[in-house]
Amino acid sequence: MILITGGAGYIGAHVALEWLGQGEEVLILDNLCNSQRAAIERISTLAGKRPEFIQGDVRNRRLLDTLLHDYPIDAVVHCAGLKAVGESVREPLRYFDTNVGGSLTLCQAMAQAGVFHLVFSSSATVYGDCATLPINEACATGQPTNPYGMSKLMSENIMKSVASSDPRWSIGLLRYFNPIGAHPSGLLGEAPTSTPNNLLPYLLEVASGQRPHLSVFGNDYPTLDGTGVRDYLHVVDLALGHVCALDTLRGRRGVSIWNLGTGRGYSVLEVVSAFEQVTGIKIPLSIEARRPGDIARCWANPQKAIEELGWQASRSLQSMLADAWRWQSNQLGQVDVRQAN
Ligand code: NAD
Ligand code: UDP
Repeated sequence: MILITGGAGYIGAHVALEWLGQGEEVLILDNLCNSQRAAIERISTLAGKRPEFIQGDVRNRRLLDTLLHDYPIDAVVHCAGLKAVGESVREPLRYFDTNVGGSLTLCQAMAQAGVFHLVFSSSATVYGDCATLPINEACATGQPTNPYGMSKLMSENIMKSVASSDPRWSIGLLRYFNPIGAHPSGLLGEAPTSTPNNLLPYLLEVASGQRPHLSVFGNDYPTLDGTGVRDYLHVVDLALGHVCALDTLRGRRGVSIWNLGTGRGYSVLEVVSAFEQVTGIKIPLSIEARRPGDIARCWANPQKAIEELGWQASRSLQSMLADAWRWQSNQLGQVDVRQAN
């Protein structure tokens, strides 16, 4: 059985669904601070099978000890955490407590229970502003400019130290690039509870008339059209990456690091234009100043994941955008979505 912390959230729910679909038993632990119980129902509907669900906190050591004792868990995927960069600047202690404290407590409980396979939701943010592109796993980690990024790097470092101390550990640090999109059914997706910070959730709210325009943060970067370039990948591809990572980890020891990205970058304006083509909806834009802390360009070299995991992102930008819009439309009771390419 696989324990997925944060499995009611955007990425964790997609990961849970993939494993259930492969006949695995899944236990989800989530305190629902940024998700809803309805996600568990949707996972069950799509999988035709219910995951076990416990509402609780990953920092609760006693609860973890009980779960690791009571269920036949042999691997953990640690997605639980807080992820809003701006909020992390305002509330650093809450971010370190949840993200670093959660990782620490989880590793302690796993070690005591003798469960040594761990997949961790890390982020390309740990690279900072990498001088060479595409970014491969050998690139030095940078100096994250916000507590969120620091909390990911600190968690990675804790896991590296833990693995060095005991050869039974097998840990995969998955450095996600920019996950977007939703399950093609339109039943699972990202549901921000406050004003979105990220490009796609904000764009979706503009498209559905909840916000007047999309602010483009800077059009004077040294990129094709002056706007920031990122490596967007479909959340279903990302979820499949977790399945491949755990399969690979079962046959190795120590710490393994894999970039999960497509290897191709798109600018903000390219994303907007592709969205307009896919949905037929015009997005009003307002060109504004650069967002502090943003880098110009970031995309992955996914070769290591391709070679070692046999995993490669295959879904197009168009399908990411069509699936995201289908999810958003379902949320709002709207329907008219054009087919993706
Ligand atoms: P999300 O907020 O949708 O999911 C996180 C889940 O963790 C939520 O369901 C939340 O309720 C739960 N959670 C938070 N604190 C918890 C706690 N103390 N105990 C138990 N559950 C708790 O976010 P997501 O986009 O699915 O991200 C999942 C992971 O991937 C996070 O660790 C995030 O930092 C990381 N990540 C996300 C992105 C992205 O763009 N979405 C990029 C890189 C890394
Ligand atoms: N971006 C933007 N307007 C927004 C949100 C983001 O122009 O409302 C830009 C941002 O400057 C970056 C890209 O979109 O160039 C991706 O930003 P996001 O926050 O989604 O991801 P991250 O910066 O964390 O990679």
